[in-house]
Amino acid sequence: MTTSPERPRSHLFYQSRRRRPLLDQARGVYLWDVDGKRYLDGSSGAMVCNIGHSNERVLEAMRRQMEKATFGYRLHFENEAAEKLAEKTAQLAPSGMERAFFVSGGSEAVESGIKLARQYALAKGEALRWKVISRFPSYHGATLGALAVTGYTPMTAPFEAMMRPMPKIPAPRAYLDGLDPDDPATGAHYAEMLERRIVEEGPETVLAFIVEPVGGASTGALVPPAGYMRAVREICTKYGVLLIHDEVMSGGGRTGKFFAGEHWNVDPDILVVSKGFAAGYAPLGAMLAQDHIVDAVLDDGGFIHGYTYAGNPLACAAGLAVIEEIENQGMMANAAKIGALLKERLKGLMNRFPFIGDVRGEGLLLAFELVSDRVTMTPFPASLGLHDKLVEIAYSKGLIIYSRRTRGGYEGDHFLVCPPMIATEAHVDEIMETLTDSLAGLEAEIGP
Ligand code: PLP
Repeated sequence: MTTSPERPRSHLFYQSRRRRPLLDQARGVYLWDVDGKRYLDGSSGAMVCNIGHSNERVLEAMRRQMEKATFGYRLHFENEAAEKLAEKTAQLAPSGMERAFFVSGGSEAVESGIKLARQYALAKGEALRWKVISRFPSYHGATLGALAVTGYTPMTAPFEAMMRPMPKIPAPRAYLDGLDPDDPATGAHYAEMLERRIVEEGPETVLAFIVEPVGGASTGALVPPAGYMRAVREICTKYGVLLIHDEVMSGGGRTGKFFAGEHWNVDPDILVVSKGFAAGYAPLGAMLAQDHIVDAVLDDGGFIHGYTYAGNPLACAAGLAVIEEIENQGMMANAAKIGALLKERLKGLMNRFPFIGDVRGEGLLLAFELVSDRVTMTPFPASLGLHDKLVEIAYSKGLIIYSRRTRGGYEGDHFLVCPPMIATEAHVDEIMETLTDSLAGLEAEIGP
């Protein structure tokens, strides 16, 4: 089969009519299409394939599970793979989080976290609490509940009539506001926005605050300013608001810690993870909660929520094998080391390309942002479509990166550069060479 545009009309559809080459195979940090063209996976898919493709030990663990059983419905059987993965996850989780609720992806995990929070409030006799405060920009998922807390208007706008509006506060984008991210006053300034909003809404009506500890695609790997995460924790505790860490993208080791919240020693009440949790080997996510929350809900009649594939043995066997690989191969340490190198090299690009306004991120969750003026941090007009153009130039040269046009109080083009955690210095060289060429191609279009 060929990848040519003359391929017959597909019976599949996704978001648009855009066609992509057919994937043939994937190994390590590379993918090949059916015409034999090789691509370096510089975004680990959508920040998913953290341990690289076709890891033989994970495949073997999945084969072993497949030969035993691929499905056992949770109302009929418990399964060892889910038990073991839950035990392992509890060891890695923030203190007090002893139990996991497994799902098939990030949106399902977020929905589950919001619903558990609401049931906990009901169990405590706090029925007025239903508002989940989130940030703009942010991304928490595509299902209607997760979308209601998402601060990214292109995805929420068509569905607003179908959702109850949820309060939003600005994400702490110090680099745009001319504030020093290392100054604790900056963290306090943005955290105060949360406190003000809780008070304005009426604390007795606020259920939770959901936050990506290191931002994902919506903010482009935004790292919170000094003191922010801790201040947010304290504010939530003060008003009885549950703190939900959305680690769908930042969890699983990519930032150099298994959960990004560990960078600030902050324990949330509820935590959700997916993507890197099974690293693309199976659709899997998890919602973890403090023990007393789970107990209160289970004692109050049970958690009124569930999915057919929850705790699927094959997905859980994959997840467990992925975590073992991350630990046994020292991948988090590599993500920290190679991430620091890649970040330095990306920063170096700012000398050559004046239209790169910012480079940020933690470990191998990294991004850079384009601006037409670095002093005023003015973005390029959306009509130039730069986020798409650079991705396409790089793709044509065999490098996959991930981009977004940010919305929500500011518009701008940013690009995530997030290769798998097995990336080496040689892979960084290869990424930088193709990226530099691609940026030169973009420069030719927009002018120096
Ligand atoms: N939360 C965050 C932070 C994400 O980055 C994503 C996906 O990109 C989601 C939730 C939704 O996950 P999924 O696409 O697996 O439903």
